[in-house]
Amino acid sequence: MRPARAVIDLQALRHNYQLARDTANAKALAVIKADAYGHGAVSVAQALESQADGFAVACIEEALELRQAGIRAPILLLEGFFEADELALIVEHDFWCVVHSLWQVDVIEQAALAEPLNLWLKMDSGMHRVGIHPSEFQAAHRRLLSSGKAAKVVLMSHFARADELDSARTDEQLAIFQSARAGLPAEISLRNSPAVMGWPTVPSDWVRPGIMLYGATPFDQPQSVADRLQPVMSLESRVICVRDLPAGEPVGYGGTFIAERSMRIGVVAMGYADGYPRQAPTGTPVMIDGHRSQLLGRVSMDMLCVDLTDVPGSGLGSDVQLWGKNILISDVAAHAGMIPYQILCNLKRVPRLYSGR
Ligand SMILES: *Cc1c(COP(=O)(O)O)cnc(C)c1O
Repeated sequence: MRPARAVIDLQALRHNYQLARDTANAKALAVIKADAYGHGAVSVAQALESQADGFAVACIEEALELRQAGIRAPILLLEGFFEADELALIVEHDFWCVVHSLWQVDVIEQAALAEPLNLWLKMDSGMHRVGIHPSEFQAAHRRLLSSGKAAKVVLMSHFARADELDSARTDEQLAIFQSARAGLPAEISLRNSPAVMGWPTVPSDWVRPGIMLYGATPFDQPQSVADRLQPVMSLESRVICVRDLPAGEPVGYGGTFIAERSMRIGVVAMGYADGYPRQAPTGTPVMIDGHRSQLLGRVSMDMLCVDLTDVPGSGLGSDVQLWGKNILISDVAAHAGMIPYQILCNLKRVPRLYSGR
C-alpha cells in the first residue's frame, strides 16, 4: 500500500475548538466548509458535535451531507441560498441561513414557508464582497421581521484584514457595523479565527472559527493564542528510493536543484496530486525520522525528493512528515508563497486516518 496518508488528530481538533470558545467567551460555530478545510467534514462534525454550539458551511450541498450523516446540531449556510427552491429544504432540515443581499430579502418575502427561518443578516462593513450596504441594513432588517418569515435574525459581518494585527481596518469596520446596527436588539457575529485570536475587544455573541480549529495560524508572526493551537493534520509518507549523487548532478524535473556536494537523496511517495504544493521550492522544511531536513528540486505529481545526506540512519523506508506537529503548515505555506487555507483545502488522493476519536 502506498504509504502517503493524512493523519487527523481529533483530540487536537477538540482542544482548538475549546480554545476558540474560551478565548472569545462566546458561542462558536465550527466552520467546516470545503470538507472541513480538507480534514473531512463528517468526521470533524462527529468529533465536535457533543461540544460545539453549531457548524457553518458554505452551501446547502455541504449541509445536506452533514444531515445525511446524522449530524443534528445547528448548521449555518454562510452563502445562504442561491435559488428560491432551496428554502423548502432549508426549512425541512432546519438549517440557519445567511442573507447577504437584497435579492435574497425579496425571495424570502415572496416565499411560502412551512415554518419561519433562522436568519443571519450580513452587513458589508467594508470588505466589499457580500453583505447589505450599511445604509440599507436597518430597512432590510425591518423587511425580514415584518415578512413573518424570520423566527430570529442574527446580525453579522466579516473582517477583511483581521490577520493584520497592526491594521486599523478591523476597528474601522467594527465602528461602521456598530453605528449602522444601532438600536437593533439582536445577537451579533463578527469574528473569524484571526479576529477571535487577535481582536479580543470586538464584541460577539457568536464567533466563526475556521482555520484555527485545524491548528494552523492565519498570522505571519507569533501570536499568543495562535501559539497554543495544536496542529490537527499530519501529512506523512515514506522514502521509497534512495540514491547517492556526486556534486554537480541535477535532481528532478527541470534539473532546478544541482547537488553542491556528494549527497544522498531520498524519493518520497508524495506529490502535487496529493495536494503537496508544487510551488514549494528547494529548502522547504520536511521531517525525516524525527530530524529536520529539506525538499530538493521540483515536486512531481506523485513523488518528491528530500535531502538525506545529514540525517543519521535514514534510508529506504524512513518516515517523512511533510507537515504536522513538527513541520508547521504555515511554514510550508510561507515557503510556497501560499496560505495554510489554500494548502489544506487542496488535499487529495491520500487516505485520511483519524486518531483520538
Ligand atoms: C470561512 C469563513 C469563516 C472562517 O474563517 P477562518 O479565517 O478560517 O476562521 C468565518 N466566517 C465566514 C463568513 C467565512 O466565510
